[in-house]
Amino acid sequence: MMKEKLMEKIVALCKRRGFIYPSSEIYGGLANSWDYGPYGVELKNNVKSAWWKANVHNREDMVGLDAGIIMHPRTWDASGHTQNFNDILVDCKKCKARLREDHIHGKCPKCGSKEFTEGRAFNLMLATHLGAMADTSSKTYFRPETAQGIFVNFKNVIDSTSRKLPFGIAQIGKSFRNEITAGNFTFRSREFEQMEIEYFTKAEDADRCYQQWIETRFQWYIDLGIKEANLRIRPHAEDELAHYAKGCSDVEYAFPFGWSELEGIANRTDYDLKQHAEFSGVDLRYQDKVTNERFYPYVVEPSGGVDRATLAFLVDAYHEEEVNGKIRTVLRLNKKLAPVKVAILPLLKKNSDIVTMAKNIKKDIQKDFVCVYDDTAAIGKLYRRQDEVGTFYCLTVDVDSLGDKQVTIRDRDSMQQERIPMDRVKEFLNTNLRN
Ligand code: ATP
Repeated sequence: MMKEKLMEKIVALCKRRGFIYPSSEIYGGLANSWDYGPYGVELKNNVKSAWWKANVHNREDMVGLDAGIIMHPRTWDASGHTQNFNDILVDCKKCKARLREDHIHGKCPKCGSKEFTEGRAFNLMLATHLGAMADTSSKTYFRPETAQGIFVNFKNVIDSTSRKLPFGIAQIGKSFRNEITAGNFTFRSREFEQMEIEYFTKAEDADRCYQQWIETRFQWYIDLGIKEANLRIRPHAEDELAHYAKGCSDVEYAFPFGWSELEGIANRTDYDLKQHAEFSGVDLRYQDKVTNERFYPYVVEPSGGVDRATLAFLVDAYHEEEVNGKIRTVLRLNKKLAPVKVAILPLLKKNSDIVTMAKNIKKDIQKDFVCVYDDTAAIGKLYRRQDEVGTFYCLTVDVDSLGDKQVTIRDRDSMQQERIPMDRVKEFLNTNLRN
């Protein structure tokens, strides 16, 4: 399939089936902004909970945090964002396209011209005002990253949890950037969610932790079903690194529009805590309980995007195949990510006994697994609908079910059907969906 076509198909499927809609569409839309529909919100929540489980609950050395989106404006002076969080923008002299200087590679991607205006710095933070007066004293920003909420709470977490190095703080939440260049679907949005970890360690252990986090984060995408051939790690060149960073590597995915960053893992040294200590006047050093030594820990930061991960999972799962002379579109999403685990489909909706039986099965299963009930079309169409949104199993109730108390379970990927007793459905789902 042509790569451009693939992206078009995914955008169309997302809209048609309720994964992702253009923002404020009835008003003509809002550039680089998107809303998640009924299936999209389930998928995105599953991505976030898989991340939280792997990085917080399943580890001994991590805790979570949920800091505010709006922070004290000094935060952004200390972090360097007020000064340095800029894109350098140029205009193509021929077609007038406004482009990021680091994206043009010598010629305009729109018209091929090599003539550009001088670069101008454009700060990406979204400003706002707090309180009744819209003057400079009330100005602050919507956070452009979640990380700073972790740094400013470093002392709180240490004081309230007695954590010892090495340990990390994880956070998932919204971030905002005034992106003005066109994004590829949700890949570059103005409002997006990040999943970030700040992992604090002694300086001498930082290189090792950095390597470990690169491997751990790479493996997370594979464990959730991304094909390894579509993932790579790209270490940053020396001149790409921030002045304080000792190393940075991106996990990249082979999107239809090219290899692009899903997540960055950086060794940020002790820069951030030192900056906040200096700007706030609060001593943010860590104290070793055994030696009583006080020092600034190093920080390794795996910083990923929920929306970019969700898009990569969608692209990787998208599959078309010919079945009986017709094209079947199926999202082969990992079972942990599939928005719906089971669709309950009665074969004869006119038969009230079948409908009652099907609805009772749903009532029972939905306590443990996300289910839908659908009787609004013929069975072939119902299956196609569920395949398109990645529903893991379809469970049908038919006339025979009334007598033999058995139902048919159809597997999304193989389309194999299996007849099992109604009272074994839960056991079947527990065995096949939970491991
Ligand atoms: P890019 O160079 O693509 O703009 P970045 O290097 O500025 O990205 P970071 O500041 O490292 O991105 O942010 C960490 C992660 O947050 C990224 O890897 C990405 O997954 C996510 N992210 C950043 N900006 C956006 C955005 N505008 N839309 C969606 N996700 C984003």
